[in-house]
Amino acid sequence: MQQINHWINGQFVPGDSQRRGPIYNPATGQQTSEVALASVADVDSAVSAAREAFDTWRHSPLTRRQNIMFAFRELVLNHKLDIAKLLTAEHGKTIDDALGEVQRGLEVIEFVTNIAHLVKGEFSEQVSTGVDTYTIRQPIGVVVGITPFNFPAMVPMWMYPVAIATGNTFVLKPSEKDPSPSQFCAELFQKAGLPDGVFNIVHGDKVAVDALIEHPDVAAISFVGSTPIAQYIHENGAKAGKRVQALGGAKNHMVVLPDADMDLAADAAVSAGFGSAGERCMAISVVVTVGDAADRLIPKVQERMDALEVGPGMAEGSQMGPLITAQHRDKVSGYVDAGEREGATLVADGRGIAVEGHADGFFFGPTLFDNVKPEMSIYTDEIFGPVLSVTRLERYEDAINLINANPYGNGTAVFTNDGGAARKFQNEIEVGMVGINVPIPVPLAFYSFGGWKASIFGDHPIYGPEGVHFYTRQKVIISRWPDPIHRGVDLGFPQHG
Ligand code: NAD
Repeated sequence: MQQINHWINGQFVPGDSQRRGPIYNPATGQQTSEVALASVADVDSAVSAAREAFDTWRHSPLTRRQNIMFAFRELVLNHKLDIAKLLTAEHGKTIDDALGEVQRGLEVIEFVTNIAHLVKGEFSEQVSTGVDTYTIRQPIGVVVGITPFNFPAMVPMWMYPVAIATGNTFVLKPSEKDPSPSQFCAELFQKAGLPDGVFNIVHGDKVAVDALIEHPDVAAISFVGSTPIAQYIHENGAKAGKRVQALGGAKNHMVVLPDADMDLAADAAVSAGFGSAGERCMAISVVVTVGDAADRLIPKVQERMDALEVGPGMAEGSQMGPLITAQHRDKVSGYVDAGEREGATLVADGRGIAVEGHADGFFFGPTLFDNVKPEMSIYTDEIFGPVLSVTRLERYEDAINLINANPYGNGTAVFTNDGGAARKFQNEIEVGMVGINVPIPVPLAFYSFGGWKASIFGDHPIYGPEGVHFYTRQKVIISRWPDPIHRGVDLGFPQHG
């Protein structure tokens, strides 16, 4: 069985823990490898390596950091398909979708090839007689990234390129379900000229996460995952004195107004509901129809769902791969049972789908519910699978109120041809990322990504300018060079220049 080990100080090491976790190919249901689950001592080795590397790396010239990022960008670009294949093998998503994921990570690397511009400070000359004031932004030290299974290449890349380009050193704790893309990228980073110890990976579970939260040499934690764990990381990280950004789960609504282009809306609902088998934090899980929109939209959605090809991610023509584990598939199935019990109308049922030659794969077919009410568990919970709900409302105002009352606030969208209605949505909706006739509003790397409410804990969205701020701290300097006029002792606050 292939062993996946930690990456510490520029080499793969098994660590001292005997604990191992299984990695599956979700399309076949077979275990393909084993990942080391770190002990507290393993975490300490990784943090110590990063701590030691920080003393040198923080002084490395900006131009050198940029050159390494350019080289890393070239290597990731040249190995895009290799990374995507690793990703599909452990996550299950289609190879096209995996290539898209790597591309979105690559864009963050491209963003930080310009890091010298992004960390510029401010300067004010002569704020008082002979006195100048200026700011600089400095790295904060060893920073940690803890990431989810659903974007095993992209989400770590939301973090470590920005942290490292700004002069920090990094310890990544990837999802224990699909760690291989990060392993591959660690070696590429080394080939790009990154000094050993600047980027490290520890694999593991709660033991590793808790050791990272408590480690005195960790300055900051970036987390992306489910809401309960995000809240746990934020509270405990803050208690341990660390800077924390923790992005959580989601329940994303797409409002369809009666004047919308129904073909466009149906394409969007199916793409955003079933892409990556619904295992995206920005997946649409509830379509909120206003007035008579549902009667015109649902047949078009059904038609598109009927044509979807479910199959292994590597197979030509597959549009939707399997779910991540058998347990997760059973959990999704349980939600469909509950939806039926609670009285929603099951329009399309993905339970028990058969994929030829892949009887043991973790497949689940596209599922559609109509007449979903806000008190049903298929509405309240993040299902994280290919289950789309339709909630029918009479008035636009009710749709806005429904979304604003939801505890999550990651992404949302409105489909309409009315500019005024779209503008009202943009203004009143209490969600961090808003699409207007765009179902998955994920900003490119020169903006920042982040939801509101229970979809984020901490002040800073991730990557982009907010990422640069999260990974640096401001120092303000007020300087006066000696001049012949010495003013003597003055205990008062200055009142004039
Ligand atoms: P998860 O919360 O189960 O795991 C995320 C990370 O936390 C993993 O590295 C895992 O090892 C660790 N972890 C799990 N349980 C832990 C515990 N009890 N104590 C300490 N650490 C623990 O999430 P997941 O299932 O891997 O990913 C899916 C979730 O991530 C969904 O809720 C999805 O919405 C969310 N997500 C959010 C975003 C976003 O940007 N807001 C992006 C991607 C995924």
